[in-house]
Amino acid sequence: MKVEADLEACQGYVCCLMAAPEVFDIDDDTAKVVVRMASPGENLRGKIEEAVRSCPSRALRISD
Ligand code: SF4
Repeated sequence: MKVEADLEACQGYVCCLMAAPEVFDIDDDTAKVVVRMASPGENLRGKIEEAVRSCPSRALRISD
């Protein structure tokens, strides 16, 4: 599983960080998402799917 973020679309709403803090962070300078794990384990899939669903900007994507 790979996680990708569209930084053009990201508006720094932080919902992804709430859903999966292991995987997402916010850059203090840009206020955009940082993907801390580009290839996270399957054990985190549920949280990441929740993060993808919760992003108001639809900036996150999972590819297998
Ligand atoms: S929820 Fe979406 S818009 Fe908000 S910080 Fe995360 S990726 Fe960016």
